[in-house]
Amino acid sequence: MYNPKSKKAEEFISHEEILDTLAYADAHKCDEALIDEILAKAREFKGLSHREASVLLACEIPEKNQEVERLAKEIKEKFYGDRIVMFAPLYLSNYCVNGCLYCPYHAKNKHIPRKKLSQDDIRREVIALQDMGHKRLALEAGEDPVHNPLEYILESIRTIYDIKHKNGAIRRVNVNIAATTVENYRKLKEAGIGTYILFQETYHKESYERLHPTGPKSNYAYHTEAHDRAMEGGIDDVGLGVLFGLELYRYEFAGLLMHAEHLEATFGVGPHTISVPRVCPADDIDPTEFDNGISDEMFQKIVACIRVAVPYTGMIISTRESPKVREKVLQLGVSQISGGSRTSVGGYTEEEPEDESSAQFDLSDRRTLDEVVSWLMEMGFIPSFCTACYREGRTGDRFMSLCKSGQIHNCCLPNALMTLKEYLMDYASEETRKIGEELIQKQLANIPKDKVREVVEERLMKIQEGERDFRF
Ligand code: SF4
Ligand code: SF4
Repeated sequence: MYNPKSKKAEEFISHEEILDTLAYADAHKCDEALIDEILAKAREFKGLSHREASVLLACEIPEKNQEVERLAKEIKEKFYGDRIVMFAPLYLSNYCVNGCLYCPYHAKNKHIPRKKLSQDDIRREVIALQDMGHKRLALEAGEDPVHNPLEYILESIRTIYDIKHKNGAIRRVNVNIAATTVENYRKLKEAGIGTYILFQETYHKESYERLHPTGPKSNYAYHTEAHDRAMEGGIDDVGLGVLFGLELYRYEFAGLLMHAEHLEATFGVGPHTISVPRVCPADDIDPTEFDNGISDEMFQKIVACIRVAVPYTGMIISTRESPKVREKVLQLGVSQISGGSRTSVGGYTEEEPEDESSAQFDLSDRRTLDEVVSWLMEMGFIPSFCTACYREGRTGDRFMSLCKSGQIHNCCLPNALMTLKEYLMDYASEETRKIGEELIQKQLANIPKDKVREVVEERLMKIQEGERDFRF
């Protein structure tokens, strides 16, 4: 029985409802009148239901598909402007007791080197990340109660926030660790995490159980209900994601939006972010073994449809994707990307080339952060190192209501320009700095309020003189 408000995974992600949705979408994929109606609703920028969005995803009328793309770009522009928030993953440990078939860290992989960072290792990694210019991290760790207990994660978070090196500081730590208890989520909240991110991998229960044959993660309901427990534990911002390629993409797409609707219906606030990874090669993992891979074109359509369906939810893409794909999806809806990433434990302080034998996935985008920043600016985007909302307590429903009223824009652009200025002063190459300074001057004109623009100009001068950490 489908019930978005239910606390039970099988009810808020109802298999029958997804099958009905897919049948409905198939039946209407050429229904011009209905598609026009859905597009008209989407133009109100209030989002779409999983059924409506599934019709757009299935749509086979080329002109309507182009309209979806245009609308996605318009929404991206309206809600996120030219800003792209930058972050980096930090792998703490690849010890893992689970048996996920698509991940090289699965417990049966006996030849992958297992590593866990000590607090000193973490300090070195974080200093390396700070020296690149990063301010926002996503912590990653396998599930292993002996090697990576929650106390280890909490201690690591404390260590990271405490490191002050030159002008560097990690100002927001997001956490991507295994599903846990309300009590543990409460401790993560107390440790000051930003978003708690947990990928569902697949919403298809039967496939989920086949892909997770062993370990605590094999419990579909416990995993799927984790975001609820996180919110009950006081974490305001949670992130969803599926690993596209494991199951039929249309199934995952409907499941993902149903999960977002469930959070909105239950807690009054939808997911803070949605990540869109695709299965990719790694030690012991051959993506062709998963027969649900999607083309770049379909991947882009998925991003566009998510953007249209949940305008207020940030969308994240990682270095799994090539620069070419990243460029396209940045225009269609992605609002956060990683740069200069290493996906192995200790990867930021290893000698080049990276010891890839312990990486969770192979990187398609191997450029440095400086190269990514410069590339973004050359395309007209503003790389933003902003972490202001979390630090000002603008999280959860407070954040969402500011988003929905459009007021958040008064903060985002000024913060993006000021944090970019910090980056240019402290970390950028000469060439990048030159492009960035020009971009900042040009973008200042886009701050609508004269008073705010004046304050930003003043603060940019102060940053030039050595002061740091201004925010709205
Ligand atoms: S996906 Fe996560 S839980 Fe699964 S094997 Fe990899 S690290 Fe472990
Ligand atoms: S002001 Fe808030 S929403 Fe805008 S970029 Fe900064 S952290 Fe994100």
